Amino acid sequence: MNLEHNFTGLGEAFFSKTLIKPLLEQRLVEFNQSVAAFLSIDIKSPTTKSILSGEQAVLNSLSMVYAGHQFGGFSPQLGDGRGVLLGELRGQDGLLYDLHMKGAGPTPYSRRADGRAVLRSCIREYLASEAMQALSIPSSRALALYDSREAVYRETPEPGAMLLRTAQGHIRFGHFEYFFYQGKQEELDALIQYCLEYYYPACLEAESPLESMLIEVVKRTARMIAKWQAVGFQHGVMNTDNFSFTGETIDYGPYGFMEDYQPDWICNHSDHEGRYAFSRQPGIGLWNLNCLMRCFSNHLTRDQLVAILQTYEPELQTHYDELMLAKMGLGDVNDLHVLLPKLFTILLAEKMDYTLFFRLLSRIGENDFSCVLDEVIDRARMSEWLALYQAARSKVVVAWADTSDLMLQTNPKFILRNYLAYEVTQAAEQGDYLPFRRLLNVLSHPFDEHESSDVLAQRAPDWAQSLEVSCSS
Ligand code: AMP
Ligand code: MG
Ligand code: MG
Repeated sequence: MNLEHNFTGLGEAFFSKTLIKPLLEQRLVEFNQSVAAFLSIDIKSPTTKSILSGEQAVLNSLSMVYAGHQFGGFSPQLGDGRGVLLGELRGQDGLLYDLHMKGAGPTPYSRRADGRAVLRSCIREYLASEAMQALSIPSSRALALYDSREAVYRETPEPGAMLLRTAQGHIRFGHFEYFFYQGKQEELDALIQYCLEYYYPACLEAESPLESMLIEVVKRTARMIAKWQAVGFQHGVMNTDNFSFTGETIDYGPYGFMEDYQPDWICNHSDHEGRYAFSRQPGIGLWNLNCLMRCFSNHLTRDQLVAILQTYEPELQTHYDELMLAKMGLGDVNDLHVLLPKLFTILLAEKMDYTLFFRLLSRIGENDFSCVLDEVIDRARMSEWLALYQAARSKVVVAWADTSDLMLQTNPKFILRNYLAYEVTQAAEQGDYLPFRRLLNVLSHPFDEHESSDVLAQRAPDWAQSLEVSCSS
């Protein structure tokens, strides 16, 4: 394993050297072979194995320092309170990837917390990040899950665990805020240069490399959030310290995948005001980018920064439209803009499952809408909508059946329903990882039928209505 330590080159203002502190009787319970192969990691090598688990120290492992706007308020100093960056590895695409351990034990940024993670949250992150990957949404990825017999105390004692994950970068909007608000211009310049070299090298050729990089960050952020909205993903804690400069979905906490269509849904039980409600995510993305742009107010003019921010909304809208056209099997954006609001009104009134609806829509015949109509209460209203839909779809030159096939490769059968995450966690806490693996398998191939796992595509049962997720993990 050829671990590199490029981030350490920035100097000690950016991190504290920290080692992983393994848990008691730690066991490797899941290992992601495809991520390992991509990063040329050989888990059969005893040295690699003990480095990954933290049993063998790596000289330059570290925890990063950053700041961030949390629920709208500025926290001048945060950091990896339970995360350790082992180093970077080159992927088969030639890019560098961070190797990062979550739940690695206390760091200088833990404040009063324990630096640990519970099995429940590591399982939730493992499943969600792999589900996102399979849905083509940029995301950190899980490499390895370790469980242990060490108790970690949340509301009650829970089994402690660690999750080894990879991402192109763990530099957050909050990294820039940390240096900007302290007036540390040199460090800010060094960070800009680092990001240009490692993440946005093509921008180095531009007349203004910084401006060109920021336009790219805005674009990646807009596209990432458009994808969240199209698939029904809610992040739950869109603080600027949880937003990556590389446009990847990171920091899976009290996230959720939308079940019944509900635009004002709040998945995070700790988000009392609904700041991060589903329909607010695009607006919060812009709010966060605005925080980020402020950090460059000594580098670029106000007009330049505003112009960069103005690229966000059209990028997000255009990409969202593309994604929704594909979900609906349509070609004309004007049709989409007529059909979508009407459809959302129906889905909301009917309390329909967002994912299952689009899967059904993928299956309707050119002249047979029964599979959708059988699922609704107000058949007349849905028939009216379906007639408009049929007319719009008839304009597509591709044969109806071929469009249906494409839609089945666009509209997943399986999403990570909260109750499923809960069930597999309950089993894992008893030492049974089979349900976890079975769920992971369908989420990794969410467009396939997996007939024997139909039960994992079903809506939440009544008992699950009271399940809550919060920031405690
Ligand atoms: P999050 O809401 O997960 O983004 O966490 C916010 C901040 O709290 C970050 O700086 C985390 O590193 C830190 N943090 C969260 N949980 C723990 C924990 N159990 N121990 C130490 N720090 C934590
Ligand atoms: Mg965080
Ligand atoms: Mg977190």
